[in-house]
Amino acid sequence: MNIIRLFLFLFLIWIIWSFFKRKNSRRIQEIQEQPILKQGRMVSCKYCGLHIPTEEAIHIDNANFCCIEHSKL
Ligand SMILES: [Zn+2]
Repeated sequence: MNIIRLFLFLFLIWIIWSFFKRKNSRRIQEIQEQPILKQGRMVSCKYCGLHIPTEEAIHIDNANFCCIEHSKL
């Protein structure tokens, strides 16, 4: 009876371990995919028309600017 319990216990550990492993690998995949998606998004500066990635652009009133100086002008 003890051996059966031990096997059940090991089986339970294996299920939990495989679940966490799958969860982590999916998270790594998401992190790796994100920069590719971000690189594809480009916006142009409303003042000078320069194309810049979305995360580097300055957003003011639905308009995009390449730098703080251009957003003020
Ligand atoms: Zn600009």
